[in-house]
Amino acid sequence: MLKKLAEWLDQSSNIVFFGGAGVSTESGIPDFRSASGLYHMGNQIPPEVILSRNFFDSNTKQFYDFYFEHMIYPEAQPNLTHQLLAKLEDMGKLKAVITQNIDGLHQKAGSCEVLELHGSTDHYSCLACRKAYDIESVEKLCAAGQGVPRCDCGAKIKPDVVLYGESLDQNTLIKAVNYISEADVLIVAGTSLVVYPAAGLVDYYRGDKLVLINASKTSYDRRVDLLFNSKLKQVVEPLLAHFSE
Ligand code: NAD
Repeated sequence: MLKKLAEWLDQSSNIVFFGGAGVSTESGIPDFRSASGLYHMGNQIPPEVILSRNFFDSNTKQFYDFYFEHMIYPEAQPNLTHQLLAKLEDMGKLKAVITQNIDGLHQKAGSCEVLELHGSTDHYSCLACRKAYDIESVEKLCAAGQGVPRCDCGAKIKPDVVLYGESLDQNTLIKAVNYISEADVLIVAGTSLVVYPAAGLVDYYRGDKLVLINASKTSYDRRVDLLFNSKLKQVVEPLLAHFSE
């Protein structure tokens, strides 16, 4: 199976990667739905409630307390998967990384064409005047504002991440659909494929080289052309060695 995947990657110059939180677990960032994920940490309020726009608006301090404790990992470094994807792009083989992640690790590894469907924890903006802030300023304003960061204009500052109840950026979505529908090889990895509309993007693929790498079962398992029911490292390590020869 691994030989087949290496062969497809060797032959293609139009690979697209679509990934989720499982791509970053090997960098020490917990996902949502694995046994060690955020949904199983015994939080009194479910994470999907805290990470919703309604909750942000009505309980901003509680939102930021949770956000800084569970969503921010300043020490995290790109892992082998991030590195392989950056390398394939550099070789002119991979066209785009489409990610549900908000951790910025693909860019840190050197990938250039990264579509962040759910935004990024690196960027923040004022809900009223749209002034942009970085994470360091927001942390300081949070401390100064009793847990609620406020802009110079007085309005709240929100992370530029897509919260439950918010829409995805339409331009990013359209770009993702275009990349996927024109891809020769589509690699889907580290995602439970249950968060919509992101998960539905896989349906736009029209080729016959759909690869799925995931540690647990998904509803797409029967529909793919090559299935690796394993940790990413087991697949990616030999591929990195292959492309470093
Ligand atoms: P998810 O938690 O629902 O699913 C992750 C999947 O990855 C699981 O099926 C798990 O079995 C698999 N997985 C975990 N580690 C793996 C590994 N080493 N190798 C292969 N597979 C592995 O995550 P999702 O599908 O991305 O959707 C949930 C939402 O989580 C997304 O919207 C995303 O924004 C958000 N999220 C992002 C981060 C991040 O930025 N790193 C972290 C947590 C959650």
